[in-house]
Amino acid sequence: MTIEHRLNQLRSQLQKAAYAYYVLDNPIMEDSVYDKLYRELEGLEKEYPLLITPDSPTQRVGDRPAAQFVSVKHNIPLYSLENAFDFEELQQWEQKWQRALEGETPEHSGYVCELKIDGSAIALTYEDGLLVRGATRGDGVTGEEITQNIRTIRTIPLRLNLDNPPPRVEVRGEAFLPLDTFEEINQEREKAGENLFANPRNAAAGTLRQLDSRIVAERKLDFFAYTLHIPDAEGFELPTTQWEALEFLQNMGFRVNPNRDLCVDLQAVQDYFDSWDEERKKLPYLTDGAVVKLNDFSLQQELGFTQKFPRWAIALKYAAEEAPTVVKDIIVNVGRTGAVTPMAVMEPVQLAGTTVQRATLHNEDRVKELDIRLGDTVVIRKAGEIIPEVLRVLPELRPAATEPYEMPTTCPECGSTLIRPQGEAVLRCVNSSCPAILRGSLVHWASRNALDIQGLGEKNVILLLEHNLVNSIADIYNLTVEEIMALPRMGQRSAEKLVAAIAASKSQDYARVIYGLGIRFVGKVNAEILTQNFPTLDKLQTATFAKLQGVYGIGEEIAQSVVDWFRVEANQQLIAALQNAGLTFEATQTAPVQTNSSIAGKTFVITGTLPTLKRSEAADKIKAAGGKVTSSVSKKTDYLLAGENAGSKLEKARTLGVTELDEAQFFELLSSTTA
Ligand code: NAD
Repeated sequence: MTIEHRLNQLRSQLQKAAYAYYVLDNPIMEDSVYDKLYRELEGLEKEYPLLITPDSPTQRVGDRPAAQFVSVKHNIPLYSLENAFDFEELQQWEQKWQRALEGETPEHSGYVCELKIDGSAIALTYEDGLLVRGATRGDGVTGEEITQNIRTIRTIPLRLNLDNPPPRVEVRGEAFLPLDTFEEINQEREKAGENLFANPRNAAAGTLRQLDSRIVAERKLDFFAYTLHIPDAEGFELPTTQWEALEFLQNMGFRVNPNRDLCVDLQAVQDYFDSWDEERKKLPYLTDGAVVKLNDFSLQQELGFTQKFPRWAIALKYAAEEAPTVVKDIIVNVGRTGAVTPMAVMEPVQLAGTTVQRATLHNEDRVKELDIRLGDTVVIRKAGEIIPEVLRVLPELRPAATEPYEMPTTCPECGSTLIRPQGEAVLRCVNSSCPAILRGSLVHWASRNALDIQGLGEKNVILLLEHNLVNSIADIYNLTVEEIMALPRMGQRSAEKLVAAIAASKSQDYARVIYGLGIRFVGKVNAEILTQNFPTLDKLQTATFAKLQGVYGIGEEIAQSVVDWFRVEANQQLIAALQNAGLTFEATQTAPVQTNSSIAGKTFVITGTLPTLKRSEAADKIKAAGGKVTSSVSKKTDYLLAGENAGSKLEKARTLGVTELDEAQFFELLSSTTA
């Protein structure tokens, strides 16, 4: 595909998406996908500036106003925000604003961090303290006049709470729909057979542009103010920093988001950002990042704006869970149950904090439904721990002359004909000696949630199998350092480490062993339930179907699968060999949690690098002693366990008078607990 072709495709796709998003309030792709494609376009245009066209989405600020409302020109434009997706980009932004000053880097009073509320920006004008106009952002220069609708928002004052207001006050902020209201609206729309809103942001934008204000009033929009301008301010004492401005707005009667922080440096900014990554999911409204602003207005003024953005602010966005990338190959993977899973091999892409190169296509039906082809641009998604999956194909970005993908009919590992059992979506290799099955079983046995054997990942498992060192899971317990050292690319140290890790796995608990066996339908949680209820191997393998099924949480399918598994002769031999090797087949009593300790019931925050403990290890110790660990410091925090490079959390703890502990003091507290 030529560069020009890709550029044209990207422009056309982005234009369609922007129209659907801004004008119709009905997006056709996720924001993260839009952002990534936009960056690809920007990157290509930077590399080939001669190919930039005036109608490129990169040449435009904001969206265009819709037709029905009266247009108004903003006294001061509403700019967009530059985006950063990681700490490095944040640092680059800091260097950029410092360079723009061309002189010495000035002392400054830090960065204000605010949550980036996912709503719609609006501009409010007050004259002599009275609300006279409300407008949408529009293209940043011209918006739509929606005063009637704005008046229905109860958190926007109609009169400013100022005794002697300046002649004109401009306030900007974000109008948004709380999540529960958003859901209610969609439920009602569903009942009425109307189209559903894709997300709260579009629902808020759509609501602001309702022609009937009574409907707007019913929809219960809310508002957070974040900035103000007072053009004719003589004789008034005004804020000189963003931090003061937020307080000023609050005193004037606006709702200001309380989850803000004044950070001394970028590390503190990052800490703020990280502390909200999980917490934000508990908020009653959507956020997609943090807005970072230089606190001093004098510095903001000096820096000014580019064509599109303020130079003194940036939006730091949370890792995308969805992203577009290009398919380089389609392969099939044979798992430990013989199930054949088609996978897309893709250009590496950052997703939820990790680099992803493979995504599952689930099964043959899904491949057909997606009609995925080599060279396609696809959207992949990763939610939590789940393997990334291909969500959809963007056919507009498909290269010319491609063929639909056909699933293989024979197993790529052993050549036997693949079977698709009736009523199932999955193709299977039913050859029980197919090497893929043993390989998958070993990888599963060594995986983190099972026996957690460091160094025994897929690569080394393949190596062991290729050299015929193992024929069953139990064989790994007979491996010697010499045997492993003789393998290609294996040094003495790594061989010793691997043998030690294998030996250490013998003391893993019974539930992990049962999970590691890979009995169908027995996941981590079920393995725990089974081993709690049948605390010895003897009890588990003699348990009847009825007895198993009688256990809370164990259904028919699982019960049958367990009974069947223990009936197989080869599985009995495997268990005998594992018992011989010294693995644990009995549940140990867990120590009861101490309740009268100085840790039980207390809330801890951990920050910085501790001298010996990892943060997760310290957290485990606290939890084991009955304490609680949270991510952000508040009045409810009892202790802050702080290591080196503790940032804003330490400062906050000090202002709130929270007890600080270093690692040594923490150990003391722990031992007083267990004494
Ligand atoms: P933006 O939404 O990334 O950032 C600017 C906006 O942030 C402001 O206008 C304001 O509304 C908001 N904001 C929230 N809290 C704020 C705070 N405390 N301080 C200051 N501002 C705050 O940029 P944009 O130019 O409005 O829109 C571009 C974004 O729109 C893209 O990043 C993309 O994700 C999305 N988009 C999506 C599609 C799609 O198809 N899904 C299409 C076009 C655009």
